[in-house]
Amino acid sequence: MSERTLVLLKPDAVRRGLIGEITGRIESKSDWAVTALELRTLDRSTLEQHYAEHVGKPFYEPLVEFMASGPSVVMVVEGERVIEGVRALAGPTDPIAAPPGSIRGDFGTIVRENLIHASDSEESAARELKIFFPDFS
Ligand code: ADP
Ligand code: MG
Repeated sequence: MSERTLVLLKPDAVRRGLIGEITGRIESKSDWAVTALELRTLDRSTLEQHYAEHVGKPFYEPLVEFMASGPSVVMVVEGERVIEGVRALAGPTDPIAAPPGSIRGDFGTIVRENLIHASDSEESAARELKIFFPDFS
């Protein structure tokens, strides 16, 4: 079943020169395609919408600050079971708990600076795609 998901390569990934490495892993999966891609510094209002479910949590403010600290890569990926699939490539939220071979497991140590965001369900994907690509059909 072909799907669409929103992927962000977070400012740590861009600063560390990992755009190619991470995007390459996504692009290499059969039947997946990157269909929109942009380097973009995210503003507070976009991030507040994106992370609405986390408002009030202790990590929320530092997360928004970090996410606004430099450019991110914002992309749409389409393909077979891509929502579940990019989450699997990324690995669990905590990079130390993430297995080697996953993006977070291979490159991360800090929970906040865990390199990548990917929509976690069809509902989240629809909601997030609208925030980041309102004109994309
Ligand atoms: P995921 O990105 O895996 O879906 P969550 O939705 O739970 O994870 O959290 C959103 C983002 O907030 C995480 O990717 C991470 O950057 C940050 N985050 C989550 N939990 C913590 C925490 N305990 N401490 C610091 N940052 C956190
Ligand atoms: Mg999440």
